[in-house]
Amino acid sequence: MDQAVKTLQTWISESKNIVFFGGAGVSTESGIPDFRSVDGLYHQQYAYPPETVLSHSFLRSHSEEFYRFYRDKMIAPWAKPNPAHAKLAELEQAGKLQAVITQNIDGLHQMAGSRQVLELHGSVHRNYCSKCGRSYPISRITESSGIPVCEDCGSMVRPDVVLYEEALDMDLMNRAISYLRSADVLIVGGTSLVVYPAAGLIQYYRGNKLVLINKSPTALDQKANLVISGSIGEILSQITL
Ligand SMILES: [Zn+2]
Repeated sequence: MDQAVKTLQTWISESKNIVFFGGAGVSTESGIPDFRSVDGLYHQQYAYPPETVLSHSFLRSHSEEFYRFYRDKMIAPWAKPNPAHAKLAELEQAGKLQAVITQNIDGLHQMAGSRQVLELHGSVHRNYCSKCGRSYPISRITESSGIPVCEDCGSMVRPDVVLYEEALDMDLMNRAISYLRSADVLIVGGTSLVVYPAAGLIQYYRGNKLVLINKSPTALDQKANLVISGSIGEILSQITL
């Protein structure tokens, strides 16, 4: 075990108030592509950049194109939790981890057994009618084609995910801030910390055990107390309870 991972092990062993903040990198290790890493294939298939497609106005004006992208790139019903999800769930069950705050929308933390999961950008598993509000599971999207519609009123069913131009849930943000303020150890993983609101939220942490685990350097490496370079799954799976 390398020295940085040993230090992380010590901090985890000594704490009962760990908070984890995760980004897309946590999900890419389950095979879910980060839509921001645009590939050549994408350019051939879509006429608009992802930031345009995944916006509130685009959902309204180009619903069919939105759902084509969404079904293709944003939902992965086959995906399974990886060792990072599993270890975080174990840490919660052991009473050591208080919350997972995530920018991911895939529900893999809950699938791994985590209970206190704050999904800042919503979840593909929750969907609702844009007119009457009726709730629908993900199957409403995956088992339909074109624009998914409400059984009751025929209006468009949309995912409960935060699109560009849409506001974050402030109650959820305040809960996240409260966890971050009181955390003893804060582990930030799989995020370059450039996507809103990640970088801003981390500022609320007041402790001296800020751990960054990422494959590449991040904007906050200077502020971190411990920087571990590598796969979040490989690193967390070395931790023992
Ligand atoms: Zn409806």
